[in-house]
Amino acid sequence: MGILKSTPDAGALPGLDGGVAAQLRAACGEDSVQLRSIDRLAVAHDASHYLLVPQAVVTPRTANDVASVFTVAGRAGIPVTLRSGGTSLSGQAVGAGLLVDVRRHFRRVEVLDGGSRVRAGSGATIRQINARLAPHGRALGPDPASEIACTMGGVIANNSSGMACGTGNTSYQTIESMTLVLASGTVIDTGAADALEVLSQKEPSLVEGLVNLRRKIQDSPDFRAEIARQFSMKNTMGYSINAFTDFDSPVDILTHLIVGSEGTLGFVSDVVLRTVDVQPFAATGLAVFPRIADATDALPALINSGARTVELLDAAALKVAQQLPQAEASLRNLLIGEHTALLIEYQGASPEETTERISAAEKLLSSLSLSAPVELTTDPARRRAYGPSAKGSTPLLPEPAHRAPPRCSRTLWSQCQS
Ligand SMILES: Cc1cc2nc3c(=O)[nH]c(=O)nc-3n(C[C@H](O)[C@H](O)[C@H](O)COP(=O)(O)OP(=O)(O)OC[C@H]3O[C@@H](n4cnc5c(N)ncnc54)[C@H](O)[C@@H]3O)c2cc1C
Repeated sequence: MGILKSTPDAGALPGLDGGVAAQLRAACGEDSVQLRSIDRLAVAHDASHYLLVPQAVVTPRTANDVASVFTVAGRAGIPVTLRSGGTSLSGQAVGAGLLVDVRRHFRRVEVLDGGSRVRAGSGATIRQINARLAPHGRALGPDPASEIACTMGGVIANNSSGMACGTGNTSYQTIESMTLVLASGTVIDTGAADALEVLSQKEPSLVEGLVNLRRKIQDSPDFRAEIARQFSMKNTMGYSINAFTDFDSPVDILTHLIVGSEGTLGFVSDVVLRTVDVQPFAATGLAVFPRIADATDALPALINSGARTVELLDAAALKVAQQLPQAEASLRNLLIGEHTALLIEYQGASPEETTERISAAEKLLSSLSLSAPVELTTDPARRRAYGPSAKGSTPLLPEPAHRAPPRCSRTLWSQCQS
């Protein structure tokens, strides 16, 4: 402690050039640039196994501040990484250049049209946005299990989805427009009536590039067929290049290309999305099978029975889940060998509809080769207890089944506190 008191940055890591730091402070405010090792180490990891210590952490307040950061960093040749909830599993939210915290000051949520649309700041968490939509019986389409800590910007940039999202309710399918800051510093609202005019005037070569790429793809039956094939199934990896076959306008193409671009094409300040209906009456059950093949064989029938979500927990995940304090006795007492479980949920618009679905599902479940009978429960407390089995077990899994270190659960927890 004595050493820390006498030297503010004991054992300082090599950091950002003083001149660049001064330019960033002039642009974003004196308190917006952190150079101390402790601040940089605090964001040197996300939920992956990567460790990259940034030269500085910048916390801009507005889209224009972010534009200034891009300009200063571009001139100095320093790479920029945007970081929001920091829950990425593959190192997307860490970098060795400038780390820009885009979560803190971009959290505004505005419910539009009685909840059928929402304008969300990129730093608002999915849970915060859904809490505002809940009174209207609506929710965001993308539903990642990390919703308590991950944010709108991260979901758009990672093209994150979840158990009930399918291919129809993804960010790509539900996004209407966004306020975007490009690497050049141009700020554009893609929902504005004059968006194409503004983009063409400020970014002529970008517009030309998008038009040319679209033409090249449209002119090639092979490209078109490959894109159609790739995106006919759930495909949330990488750039959404289906934008070139789905849209004509460069503004719409750009808006949709941002989905899945992992912060490489620009900063999303806020987005307008269409929302989806919430089916409020649900029943959940954990079906445990002797082997993984038994579980996967049962999937087509379960999907056809109207299951809204089916999540697979392999033996490693089950071993973690059975140690969670809320694990039910049947799971706690299971001697796990090659067992695999499916966490199944049925939903309905009314209690009657859900009851009907439960009866049909119970007939199906009793015909499957399960390790133990499964009960579909509508009891909110028991249903909540199932949640962490799937959501909480991933980061706790031991190596080599999953390489994320156990600190991830703490990461999520600490982010929820701030
Ligand atoms: C326990 C756990 C469960 C998870 N479950 C799921 C799941 O069910 N489904 C799923 O898809 N993923 C899941 N993930 C992965 C991760 O949570 C998601 O990808 C999440 O959407 C990332 O959001 P974030 O706010 O944490 O973004 P970050 O990790 O901070 O950033 C993600 C990427 O987005 C970029 N970015 C962030 N904000 C912006 C912005 N405003 N503009 C432009 N680019 C930006 C960053 O540069 C980075 O490339 C899970 C992770 C954990 C730890």
